Amino acid sequence: MSAPPHADARIWMDGRLLPWADAQVHVLAHSLHYGSGVFEGLRAYAGAAGPALFRLRDHTERLLASAACVGMDVPYDAAALDRACIEAVRANRLGSAYVRPICFFGNGFGLSAEGLRVHVAVAAWEWASYLGAEGLERGIRVQTSDIVRDRVNRPLNHSKICGNYIYSTVATARAKAAGYDEALLLERDGRVSEGSGENLFLVRGGALATPAPGSALDGITRRTVLELAREEGLAAAEARLTRADVLAADEAFFTGTAAEVTPIRELDGAAIGGGRRGPVTARLQRRYQDLVAGRCGTHPEWRTPVG
Ligand code: PMP
Repeated sequence: MSAPPHADARIWMDGRLLPWADAQVHVLAHSLHYGSGVFEGLRAYAGAAGPALFRLRDHTERLLASAACVGMDVPYDAAALDRACIEAVRANRLGSAYVRPICFFGNGFGLSAEGLRVHVAVAAWEWASYLGAEGLERGIRVQTSDIVRDRVNRPLNHSKICGNYIYSTVATARAKAAGYDEALLLERDGRVSEGSGENLFLVRGGALATPAPGSALDGITRRTVLELAREEGLAAAEARLTRADVLAADEAFFTGTAAEVTPIRELDGAAIGGGRRGPVTARLQRRYQDLVAGRCGTHPEWRTPVG
């Protein structure tokens, strides 16, 4: 997004709320050259008592864990980072929002980031479902990517580190260029890893199966859906899954903060299940939307009011 969403949009940066256009990065920023930044993506949902950030502390903790992976000393603790996210939503008077915290190394020469200033910024804007309203309803078409995820260098490879995302951006671009909505990435041995920005779930005989976090990002929506499945009495297990398992599944769906719960109706041109959103997916999707909007009254600890 290049233009500000509205004339007085603000971005929280290094402790101040700056006009959107003034939140700039120097061209010699270490993280621009080497991908050494870390980031998060979370959402605020409108509710009866105003907007609330969903699983804010979990996202903040994952941000700090990603920072630890790259040896970055973030100059704010979890409580201050939480407050920055709240302020970014509040300052922009947003009802619902996508929120993007990022921590990055400033100017410096050479690969070592030692001694470089760590900047922190949080942007927030209104963003509809990542894979589209139609995708939520009808399901999306997915292409198996030729880009391979690697499980070596864990947890580095499965953290939200800017440089890691080159695989996701290229995989998405290739899938879209081929006429698909999203990419599915496999590991070297053929087992399923994840979507370019989502975790994968399959429904088989009424039970859920999903790759273990060792194969993918430890998604917070994934954790939420596993909890919802437990509450719904649905069996759920972590499993080694292959592309053949996806094709043979009764239903398949992606989970992610941006994508929420998005049904997959097709892989590489072959229909999954009935080629439409399946009943278990629809049920979990409804439960997820009710939960994040605070409509079901459960897990109030996961909703932080913006005030
Ligand atoms: N995998 C990748 C590679 C992602 O970028 C994301 C989005 N953060 C996810 C999975 C889903 O994670 P979450 O549910 O925490 O948004």
